[in-house]
Amino acid sequence: MRPLRYTRVATVEEAVAAAADPASAYLAGGTTEVDLIRAGIARPDHLVDVNDLPLAAIEEPADGGLRIGALARMTDVARAAGVVARFPAVSQALLLGASEQLRNMASLGGNLRQRTRCAYLRDGISPCNKREPGTGCAALDGLNRGHAVLGTSEHCIATHPSDVAVALVAFDAVVHTVGPAGPRAIAADDFFLLPGATPEREHPLAHGELIVALALPPSAVARRSVYLKVRDRQSYEFALASVAAAVQVDGGVVTDARLALGGVGTKPWRARAAEAVLTGGAADEATFRRAAVAELERAVAREHNAFKVELARRAIVRALVRSRDGAAA
Ligand code: SF4
Repeated sequence: MRPLRYTRVATVEEAVAAAADPASAYLAGGTTEVDLIRAGIARPDHLVDVNDLPLAAIEEPADGGLRIGALARMTDVARAAGVVARFPAVSQALLLGASEQLRNMASLGGNLRQRTRCAYLRDGISPCNKREPGTGCAALDGLNRGHAVLGTSEHCIATHPSDVAVALVAFDAVVHTVGPAGPRAIAADDFFLLPGATPEREHPLAHGELIVALALPPSAVARRSVYLKVRDRQSYEFALASVAAAVQVDGGVVTDARLALGGVGTKPWRARAAEAVLTGGAADEATFRRAAVAELERAVAREHNAFKVELARRAIVRALVRSRDGAAA
């Protein structure tokens, strides 16, 4: 057993000050952090409990966007009327993630900080550049059925596990933080880093920098959005491939398109190549398929995960059809 210091704070300023010690970590819902501590992957000496901070509000500004406090629980965000109406893909992604019990505890900010479920990272003994930089990557020649085909490097091929982050990236969410250097705003697409040669670095946060809110700018097309998730079983399972999609159609032509992928990328994957094909094209399955093929062109498959390339293409087409036809998943 390892001793842990525990501090409960009441303000953001207190939290940032309390977490200044490099051996400190924030504790919110605990559904990720406690798992990692138990597995020996995270080894903080000091937990700063932020659950008393006033950061759980879900605000629906008149402009049609959203501002969601980082401590809002997944269940509450998924069921908020403004989220369901303005960004249905965000609500659907939350409801398709984790289990009911976990969704009741897990915070939105913590969801963005969760780490990959790569079994080699979590077993504590296999070579893993994320856990111990420079030791190698056991997944490259190991069991890699669940691993990524987009954004990989020879140092790491782990997928990002979040569902809701896929929808947030699709709709240009902004992550608001407060840290030792003050407040800042980070585009969600920049918040998740590609592994490159430094897979241990997963986000641009400085030590002690706390996520305080997420903001979604107003988006007309987002009201038509869907989140489609393909997995090995229909509950409590990570995605093999998932899609956040929205298309606006006028006279049979796509006038606006948003697309992001989960389960196939080392980060929540904004599908900009596909969006470029879609915008201005006919709103039919032939165009949707061309868009899907364009996005997966750069996929790099390994021994066990080649099936994900075609699976992702088909999921993209199906999600786009659902958005076009106005049928929520
Ligand atoms: Fe570690 Fe990434 Fe390789 Fe998994 S894929 S073993 S997390 S380096």
